[in-house]
Amino acid sequence: MPDIAQPGRTLPADESPNTDTRTYGPASTPTHPLATAPVGTPPFSVDGFVREFLHELNTNQGVTLSRSSVNDQYLALASTVKNYLMARWLETNRKTREAKVKTIGYLSAEYLLGRQLGNALLATDLNDIARQGLELCGLDLPTLRAQEVEPGLGNGGLGRLAACFIDSMATMDVPSIGYGIRYEYGIFRQTFVDGRQVEQPDTWLALGSPWEFPHPEAAVRVDFGGHTETYVDDDGRERCRWIPAWNVLGVPYNYMVPGYLNGRVNTLRLWSAQATKAFDLQIFNAGDYAQAVRAQTFAENISKVLYPEDSTPQGKELRLQQQYFFVACSLRDFLDNELEEGFDLHHLSERIIFQLNDTHPVIAVPELMRILMDEKGFEWEEAWEVTKSCFAYTCHTLLPEALEVWSTELLGRLLPRHLEIIFGINERFLKEVRAAFPGDEMRARRMSMIAEYPEQGVRMAYLATVAGTKVNGVAELHSQLLRDKVLPDFSQLWPDKFTNVTNGVTPRRFVRMANPKLSELITDAIGSNWVTDLERLKELEPYADDPEFQARFSEIKAWNKKRLTDLLRQRDGIDLPSGHLLDVMVKRLHEYKRQSLKLLHIVSLYERVLSGTLAVEDLTPRTVVFGAKAAPGYRMAKDTIHLINKVAKVINADERLEGRLKVAFPANYNVTLAEKLIPAADLSEQISLAGMEASGTGNMKFALNGALTIGTDDGANVEIRRLVGDKHFFLFGMSEPEVAELGAKGYTPGSYYESNPQLKAALDLILSGEFSEGDRHMFDSVVYNLLHQDRFMALADFQSYIDAQARVEAKYADEAAWTRSAILNVARTGYFSSDRSMRDYLQRIWHTTPMI
Ligand SMILES: *Cc1c(COP(=O)(O)O)cnc(C)c1O
Repeated sequence: MPDIAQPGRTLPADESPNTDTRTYGPASTPTHPLATAPVGTPPFSVDGFVREFLHELNTNQGVTLSRSSVNDQYLALASTVKNYLMARWLETNRKTREAKVKTIGYLSAEYLLGRQLGNALLATDLNDIARQGLELCGLDLPTLRAQEVEPGLGNGGLGRLAACFIDSMATMDVPSIGYGIRYEYGIFRQTFVDGRQVEQPDTWLALGSPWEFPHPEAAVRVDFGGHTETYVDDDGRERCRWIPAWNVLGVPYNYMVPGYLNGRVNTLRLWSAQATKAFDLQIFNAGDYAQAVRAQTFAENISKVLYPEDSTPQGKELRLQQQYFFVACSLRDFLDNELEEGFDLHHLSERIIFQLNDTHPVIAVPELMRILMDEKGFEWEEAWEVTKSCFAYTCHTLLPEALEVWSTELLGRLLPRHLEIIFGINERFLKEVRAAFPGDEMRARRMSMIAEYPEQGVRMAYLATVAGTKVNGVAELHSQLLRDKVLPDFSQLWPDKFTNVTNGVTPRRFVRMANPKLSELITDAIGSNWVTDLERLKELEPYADDPEFQARFSEIKAWNKKRLTDLLRQRDGIDLPSGHLLDVMVKRLHEYKRQSLKLLHIVSLYERVLSGTLAVEDLTPRTVVFGAKAAPGYRMAKDTIHLINKVAKVINADERLEGRLKVAFPANYNVTLAEKLIPAADLSEQISLAGMEASGTGNMKFALNGALTIGTDDGANVEIRRLVGDKHFFLFGMSEPEVAELGAKGYTPGSYYESNPQLKAALDLILSGEFSEGDRHMFDSVVYNLLHQDRFMALADFQSYIDAQARVEAKYADEAAWTRSAILNVARTGYFSSDRSMRDYLQRIWHTTPMI
């Protein structure tokens, strides 16, 4: 809490935007015919585009074409496309409001959006017109597109999933609002200094952010701190109220989410924190200007920076503030602005389902209870009936340390009323448990939302499970393990509550946009409907044996590699050799994902050449590309990055390898880089310890772009392999039950080291100082972890992985067989469209249909 907070101080009513009675619309009923309908931009001709573009350049950027910078040109182009989308956006909002249908409120603390311009041009079919129009102005569309800084408002898979889902909902005509946080600094920009990760702030807003529409006049007040009290209302009922100590404003920033060629434009609403006026004015009046500015800064800190964690909760007060901040803004926004006045909130679930993307937004559950009871006068049971029909929960993990627990001390200090409500929910819930399992007190204790050790805390996943109409995992295996291992007591109590929705990725961004040549080839073969009906890729199966199709497919892979080579040369100064098997492992750096296992494979190949057990000419020419950010506080992950870079440096410089093995690690893996890397890949590395990766979505992107997967039986790999067939997938490693068995027996990494000479030689080479200028201890942390502790059992899967890599090389040697398998991967993975995921959510969880 800031030192300026004054417990019990309430704001004067006129400073609260929620009690703002001013109106912003016209004073009288408009009579001009154009005033009642959105003003539409007519369909563009090339001339029309040029006129609009130059108009934007002159009036928005204030420059003439001849004096304009690339940034001016990019901003003017973005405005032009935005104007084109505007009428459709306004119309979508009007239609949805009038139809009074159920909306999906997607609550996610992260959206890893990637660049917006290319997607907007694609969704509006404006690519050709823009390219031609810009050419007439002497400009080049790709150059302008490259100017865009991607909004990196997410860490990895979870945030990217949210971005894919809102794209699919717009494309499928599903009314939805994405709610989240407009972080001023998104995921850090990664640089390497002497091979070590150094984080730089992500200044994505520095050159202007043309895709957002701020609405400061619609700001929402969010309260924190203070205490609660009971009182007797006018009807003589005892009620409770929260007397908060301080507050901030949430300013909505709206973003357009265009559907693909369907005219629908949904909304993504991200909240930015600002100080309330009262906050600084009172202090300013008292003469402490510096203190007033500090207050401002304190408030704005809430949306200042994305936590760069992937799957470990940071017990940070600010993080809880962020969570409550965006959820409180979003609920308030929906209830006050999206519902018509006078709507009977008893029927709220007919109009909204809030999908909780992991536990980050779960504080929305007690917040809705609080609003219904304390503000709308509902009794507990009434409020609970409504609340538990308005939420559904998606779990994204199996790692126990990634399940959020907030200490009751912190929660009670920051959100005292919410903590009371959580205790109330828990008390009633445990009554239900005791009634269902009489005498089973251990079970009741296990299931309590309140953990007592190591300190008293709220298990947010349990709260979400109790409150949600449904709980889903994100791949079949994960959903099964969720039922059996993470939440078994809950699945016994409510077996029907649990379901699965396997993740998906948007084919617009990750195939149509990222792989234009492959898209053209597919469209030539089967027509263009696959972009919105991805299962149609099945129709490609017969072409897998067609030599002409195979040849075109291979040419496209080569073209994508060339495109990547050009990019990495100018982006990173990296030279990719041509004609190599391109072996790619890109994802967050985490022990469970096992980048160290990939590294051991590389070191082993190198060691075998050095020791003469492998002749250089028998080495399959291979380039391994890594891309991975480590959480700044995650030592082991950062040490692993350091080791990869050091190994790369030595191997890339060693002429004895005759250029047949290269390791590239371009810094700052993000969506923009993924779009160039994935279409170029031959081999997709999905090598997590079985039972650890909830789903993965990178795996889907690679398969859809014609890479073959080497992977464990984990997450969605299981489903990918089942669909593409064993012959077209390189499976290795222990299965989840085998992992569990080994864990129970006791994993002894040393035994693998002692009994496997190849493994021993690889580890010894690292320990010898070969990659660390003779320093024998530089990588002790990584190696000793693998040898003594490693929860993720990398050494246990080493031999199996090496064997699978040998099968990869054998297959790669047969070019036609490889290409055939690659084509079949594309043809058989249409299931992994996020459109299909959305259909599953609609049927199994949301119980609603698209608008017609
Ligand atoms: C798809 C994607 C991810 C998720 O990758 P996984 O391999 O599923 O962990 C992470 N980051 C970016 C930039 C992505 O595009």
